[in-house]
Amino acid sequence: MFPYPSGTLHLGHLRVYTISDVLARFKQMQGYDVIHPIGWDAFGLPAENAAIERGINPQTWTMQNIAKMKTQMMAMGGRWDWDREIFTCDPSFYKHTQRIFLMLHERGLAYQAESIVNFDPVDKTVLANEQVDASGRSWRSGAKVEKIKLKQWFLKITEFQQPLLDDLEILAKGNAWPERVLSMQKNWLGKSEGTRVRFLIESSSGSKQWPDVEVYTTRADTLFGVQYLALSLNHPVVIDMAKGNPYLRSFLATAHKLPPDSKAGFVLPGIQARNPISSILDCDTLVQSLVPVYAAPYVLDDYGSGAVMGVPGHDNRDNAFWRENNKHQPCLTVIKRASNKSTGGSDLYASDMQTPMLEKGFLADGLGKFSGLSSDQAVTEIISQLQAAGLYAKRTENWRLKDWLISRQRYWGTPIPIVHCPSCGPVPVPESELPVELPQLADSFFKGKIGNPLQDLQFWKSTRCPKCDGPAERETDTMDTFMDSSWYFMRFLDPDNHGDPIAAESSDAGLPVDVYVGGVEHAILHLLYARFISKFLATTPLWPSGGGPGNEGEPFKQLITQGMVHGRTYSDPSTGRFLLPEEVDLSEPQSPKIKSSNRVAMVSYEKMSKSKYNGVDPGATIAKYGADATRAHILFQAPVSEVLAWDDASIAGIQRWFRRLWRLSNAHFIPKAIIFQPPKILDSSLAEILTQRYVWGLFDLPGNNTATRSFEKAPPVPTLFSIIKSTESDLWVLTQETIARVTESYDRTYALNTVVSDLMSLTNAIWDMKHSSPLGSVLQWVSLCAVLRMLAPIAPAFAEECWERLHLITSTQALTSTKSNISDGRGGVASIFSCPFPTADLQAMEMLSQTQKCAVMVDGKLKFSTEIPIPPSDLDDKEKLKKWAVRQLRATDIGETWLGEGGKLGWPRVEDCKGEAGAGGEGWAVHVVRGGRTINFVTPKVVEVDQDGEWMGVVIPKKTGVARKKSKGKTTQKGEKNEKVIKSDEMKQTDEGKETNDGQKVAQERETEPAPKLLL
Ligand SMILES: [Zn+2]
Repeated sequence: MFPYPSGTLHLGHLRVYTISDVLARFKQMQGYDVIHPIGWDAFGLPAENAAIERGINPQTWTMQNIAKMKTQMMAMGGRWDWDREIFTCDPSFYKHTQRIFLMLHERGLAYQAESIVNFDPVDKTVLANEQVDASGRSWRSGAKVEKIKLKQWFLKITEFQQPLLDDLEILAKGNAWPERVLSMQKNWLGKSEGTRVRFLIESSSGSKQWPDVEVYTTRADTLFGVQYLALSLNHPVVIDMAKGNPYLRSFLATAHKLPPDSKAGFVLPGIQARNPISSILDCDTLVQSLVPVYAAPYVLDDYGSGAVMGVPGHDNRDNAFWRENNKHQPCLTVIKRASNKSTGGSDLYASDMQTPMLEKGFLADGLGKFSGLSSDQAVTEIISQLQAAGLYAKRTENWRLKDWLISRQRYWGTPIPIVHCPSCGPVPVPESELPVELPQLADSFFKGKIGNPLQDLQFWKSTRCPKCDGPAERETDTMDTFMDSSWYFMRFLDPDNHGDPIAAESSDAGLPVDVYVGGVEHAILHLLYARFISKFLATTPLWPSGGGPGNEGEPFKQLITQGMVHGRTYSDPSTGRFLLPEEVDLSEPQSPKIKSSNRVAMVSYEKMSKSKYNGVDPGATIAKYGADATRAHILFQAPVSEVLAWDDASIAGIQRWFRRLWRLSNAHFIPKAIIFQPPKILDSSLAEILTQRYVWGLFDLPGNNTATRSFEKAPPVPTLFSIIKSTESDLWVLTQETIARVTESYDRTYALNTVVSDLMSLTNAIWDMKHSSPLGSVLQWVSLCAVLRMLAPIAPAFAEECWERLHLITSTQALTSTKSNISDGRGGVASIFSCPFPTADLQAMEMLSQTQKCAVMVDGKLKFSTEIPIPPSDLDDKEKLKKWAVRQLRATDIGETWLGEGGKLGWPRVEDCKGEAGAGGEGWAVHVVRGGRTINFVTPKVVEVDQDGEWMGVVIPKKTGVARKKSKGKTTQKGEKNEKVIKSDEMKQTDEGKETNDGQKVAQERETEPAPKLLL
């Protein structure tokens, strides 16, 4: 979302534009033609308020701010398409905003009407419903909004309410839009199914007739429980009665200022409302035929028809209102939870309950023919019986959404292109006369100005009627700035088009926007208006395709809502007073002290504001740490959609990481003694790298060294892979995994914090790898090239520097080659952004992380089988191989149940395993055979010798794991179930593939490999 030019960039801007810049750069490196545009939401009240305060033209003030912010944005290292920059306050832009208004007008979707509107007494303008918060305050000035009646311009957004609701489904697919935004929009649209009925107003004196009052309810089944009728403060009945009632007048004067959840009420004297239900009831009940009528601020003018039927027994707000205004009156309950009939009489009961029953259920006993009906049945029945009785009752739907009020009584906005003619009425300005430009005014004109300056400018207002050419006046209202932002994103695709807002071929090619980043605070305002205007334009020649089937004119495919940035805030725990940074001693960052009292200050993270002294100037941060470290820090500290608790101190971690990368790019990991030959092509697969190195004669394979070396005659890939050492293989696999994960994060999950941590881990792996062979250095180099390119979107300048440094040292041959993508063709290093984003070498990853089935035996008997990696080729040392094998087995789940502490083999904890290669207790031995496909553990032997020194056999104590000394005589524990005397023929049977105790076949893989040799 483009910025409002308020004067300085704040950390929220830095965060949102870092995210979009990173994604744009990533896509560009992937080869996409990316537009990352920037412009200015340049109309608006703050500029006009500054003009009035300081005596400066809003235009001058705005352009100054833009210049300042642009400098700051340049400093943060973003790559924006400045050649597409737009200013919504520029006549070349607002000409098209006016054109879109006229297109709406022509279709009857822009109209002028008198209605009760929200008036902001501070900003002296009306506001749309979306711009008034839940407590009735202006979204911008915070002032308590007043309700007044005015003739205003509206856009008929309600014409699109059904598609605006239905197409939330499109946006929900694949989590393209955050669930929270979707549900906020759904609630705002507020579709409900209900019933309209009318209450008759009866005057006790009979002297005056009142029209029936129409009421909309979603719960017509509770009509029996109506105990009062409440009217909005502007309801015609209230207005009319107020004329003759000074008490009511004074109530209204104060009630207009009360919050919308106020429980205040004024009972209208001399009138009562007749509940229509009373005319169709066939029994005597507690149901009240006549109920009092109130004027109450909680009733909205625009909900239904400004009247509410009060059901204290079944509605929260009605309940609260009733108890406030009728402290001693009970509440009627007409719905019960269960359908069973009670044994007689009425269970309609009245109570002073404080918690109404809100759920649907069954109509209570004592309601005659309606008793026992379910809520839904009752609604149907009530409607048909009311209609049969000749009364008004209608099923209907109700929407919370109202038409969008776009008139503003201000100067600094797009003029509404309408001329008011005394004989023709409001007439649209012809397209050829657009733009209707704002008058150029001197700075002094604005000083201390109150109200709308355009109204006083006769020279600007006076014009001719486009229809009859008679004298006429221009419309002096300007448009809500949300009108500008409802379509600006389209203009980026065609910024120099003078004739149209956008050409059809541009919109069809470029819309919808692929990724849109902005704050969740725009969930209803901007994002709803933009969806409306976009859907409208998709019905015009400006965007004929509407994004194709399945898009339905939706403007933004993917929406990312970034979280807020909170600042570190210090306060005095005894008073709660916020402390200035200079009042706090930060020498011990863990316990900051208040200098004056030496007490420990409270630390919290809160929304940045001047009053909390917790603001951070992004310019200062960038100057201190550099743009790239700041960007990486912003991304690393929190997932994009969550609150970022800003803490300067932890940038140190990013700086350490950058220092490592800077040293690595000096190629210090390549020993001077070796001849370093990087792969010819940057993104070669491991198979290609090995083949190339084999052909170059950089390594030998056993028994193959006399063969002529050529690409055609190179040995098969698995043979080449056999020279890779385990550390080399680990690094290659980690690199490929990182590429795959980082790509996924950039592309799909937007988990940009994990991109940073993944790149840090890979950097450390490159750093920590000890030199093992010339191939090892090459693989480190390739991994480093991948890290730098994956880092480039986040830290563009730093990655570029490292890239150049690395290749100037290591790619001297490539730089002179015109074919290499590392060379800029003039002997220098090409920009990192001209190199493609790395792609994972999945083939090598698969081969290197291949596993094989491993049969695990104890003393030659199969105990279990599992998958473990193929042993790396450099584990030629038997001891290393054994240790490796035991470690791999322990890492599997089934291995843990056998070999783990207290597992089936009764081994102690790992540190206490004193057997061979860390297997079991003292005396255990390990044999790894058949290329790691069989591992045999041999239990310690206790040699039984009789008194004459004769051999008696071998006893295997299964559980203890410790060789036992014979206590006395020749008795052993032979009789115990767990013991076994091993004989060589038994082992043989196992080897032949006999079913073992574990019911598994062994030796199915023994065709080629020799049988395990068990040595006793
Ligand atoms: Zn006229």
